[in-house]
This record gives sequence, C-alpha cells and structure tokens, in this order.
Amino acid sequence: MHNLFQSKNIPLPYLKRITIQRQLIFAALKELNAHSTAEEVFEYVSQRYPSISKATIYRNLSQMALSGAILNIGNFYGSAHYDHKCHKHCHFVCKSCRQIFDFEEDFSKVLNEITTPDRFDVADCDISFSGLCKKCKTILLDVQHEKK
Ligand SMILES: [Zn+2]
Ligand SMILES: [Zn+2]
Repeated sequence: MHNLFQSKNIPLPYLKRITIQRQLIFAALKELNAHSTAEEVFEYVSQRYPSISKATIYRNLSQMALSGAILNIGNFYGSAHYDHKCHKHCHFVCKSCRQIFDFEEDFSKVLNEITTPDRFDVADCDISFSGLCKKCKTILLDVQHEKK
C-alpha cells in the first residue's frame, strides 16, 4: 500500500506540494481519528515529514475547512477542532477527558420547525453537546461510592 508518510522530503513544484500537504493533513486527521486540533495535526505530520511548518498546517486546515474537504467542528477549550468526516453528524464533548465523540441524530424535525418564511432560512447547522462520557461517568460514580 502506498504510504504518504514514507515519501522522502524532495523539493516539489508548488501545486504538487500543496496537494501533498493536504493529503498528509487529511491522512493525519483520519489516522488520529479524534477531532484533532491544528497543534495535534502538526505534531503528527511533522514526526513523519519534518520539513512541514506549523503555519503551513494552520493555513491548509482553514483552507480545507472553507472548501469543505474537512469540517471545522468549532472551538473547544480554546482551539478549533477538525474532522475528516464531512457528513452531517453531531458531537458530544466530555468535560472531564475532553474527548469528542460522534453520534448520528436526525434533527430534520427541528430544522423544519425553524425554517419557515417568517422565521429563519437555515443554511447550516452545527450541533454539539457536552457533559460526561460513559467512562468518566463510571469513574465519578466509583469515586462517589468509595467516599460513602
Ligand atoms: Zn470522558
Ligand atoms: Zn465528528
């Protein structure tokens, strides 16, 4: 299998370089599979492709999000998080371990209710919930149990 991260750092024509940078970033998001921040993507890519700069990662991530190649799922804990999965889905952010989970839910009923001529013309929707994930909830329950 062709692995992008195995390619050597050879100087490449500008457009080709951009394409490769974006493929590397997309592959990193996919392999990390954790709704990563630009910082996390940079750490991952630079380990395998040391010549890449942080500015390149930041610039490409925001351009890729604008073009719809990836999703900027919003700011959590001070940094934007990116998703390689572009289909409509919702997120749950755990306030304890800070993991971001995917889940599918149909919000078409809500959308239909608010998309009326006298209300809104909804162009996009971005839904996220926060609280405690199953693991953190269990840990918390155990701690409370031990205190008794
Ligand atoms: Zn958690
Ligand atoms: Zn997601």
